[in-house]
Amino acid sequence: HPATKRPPMPSPLRNSKFFQANLRILVTGGAGFIGSHLVDKLMENEKNEVIVADNYFTGSKDNLRKWIGHPRFELIRHDVTQPLLLEVDQIYHLACPASPIFYKHNPTIKTNVIGTLNMLGLAKRVGARILLTSTSEVYGDPLEHPQREEYWGNVNPIGVRSCYDEGKRVAETLMFDYHRQHGIEIRIARIFNTYGPRMNIDDGRVVSNFIAQALRGEHLTVQAPGTQTRSFCYVSDMVDGLIRLMEGDSTGPVNLGNPGEFTIMELAETVKELINPAVKVTVVENTPDDPRQRKPDISLAKELRVGAQGQPPQGPPSHGGRLQVPPRLPRRP
Ligand code: NAD
Ligand code: UDP
Ligand code: UDP
Repeated sequence: HPATKRPPMPSPLRNSKFFQANLRILVTGGAGFIGSHLVDKLMENEKNEVIVADNYFTGSKDNLRKWIGHPRFELIRHDVTQPLLLEVDQIYHLACPASPIFYKHNPTIKTNVIGTLNMLGLAKRVGARILLTSTSEVYGDPLEHPQREEYWGNVNPIGVRSCYDEGKRVAETLMFDYHRQHGIEIRIARIFNTYGPRMNIDDGRVVSNFIAQALRGEHLTVQAPGTQTRSFCYVSDMVDGLIRLMEGDSTGPVNLGNPGEFTIMELAETVKELINPAVKVTVVENTPDDPRQRKPDISLAKELRVGAQGQPPQGPPSHGGRLQVPPRLPRRP
């Protein structure tokens, strides 16, 4: 609660002659794909001091190597399922493996539940504002299309993906309970599929999988039926959205993503055409509970101006996943 907020403890770093930081920001999961891009952007502002807490389960120090040793940066090996004592002003809570092949083999439910509880306990103790990176997976295999924030979702509570999607749903519940009961300032982003540099090449996500397969001259493995859809957002747009959400007044949840929708077969054809027209596209068995369609309704993000530059993200128009001509993914520099 604001009344119980303690000022951040003075630290030698904060008082050093090198800089005068205004905000001390914790990024959990900052060594991962989205987290490391977020750290790059936050570090561009010389008034920010950034602390990353990460257990390197799916992330790597390499993603942060340009900041290691910087006086405004600190990297801590820490598992968020354990308590963490720090004095910070803002918390971007990203820690959680995001790729199905990893989250199915890890106590992801503990990371989502206990990890989020710990970060909320920390936010409560020091009066920090906390942003959770939730996910479009909270809508499950959606019966509404496109997905609006008001939709409650269609999620299997006992399936192989539940540690992730139900885990994030519990994390959202915890955020709102701490907000209502303790007055914590919360922000919830529901992130839709994001792509860009530093995606882990072997983590099984579809964009990196297809690109790696095409580069190696292997078959592109489209999981059946191939008509399932996803909407892909470039990582720098996602990071802009996260920072705008943190700085704005809305608690969320807010959908962040690109509404340009593709079938997975269209994505495979696009990657094949761009990288290696000689490779074959093969339909392989899918995993259980794979959502059949996904596309964000980003009206709320546009209204709150948390979309990139307050504009709808760049991308092709949506055709409800029934395109005849393979579209191109938005090209970014
Ligand atoms: P990522 O796997 O690259 O990054 C996650 C980071 O969290 C890694 O550095 C990992 O080591 C760390 N981590 C995992 N468990 C931890 C724990 N117990 N303690 C401390 N650190 C831990 O994933 P990402 O794509 O960068 O995703 C970041 C966040 O965004 C996640 O919360 C994810 O659920 C969310 N999200 C991502 C996408 C996407 O398309 N990439 C979509 C929806 C939501
Ligand atoms: N916590 C933490 N860092 C802090 C404060 C709390 O990791 O700076 C953890 C604490 O260990 C607890 C959780 O956050 O497990 C929730 O804390 P809270 O104070 O809300 O609950 P309580 O400890 O009263 O059950
Ligand atoms: N997918 C695929 N081939 C792959 C990897 C994934 O066809 O090699 C499909 C998968 O079945 C899903 C979609 O691509 O329908 C997106 O999968 P991803 O794991 O990237 O993200 P998520 O399921 O979390 O949206």
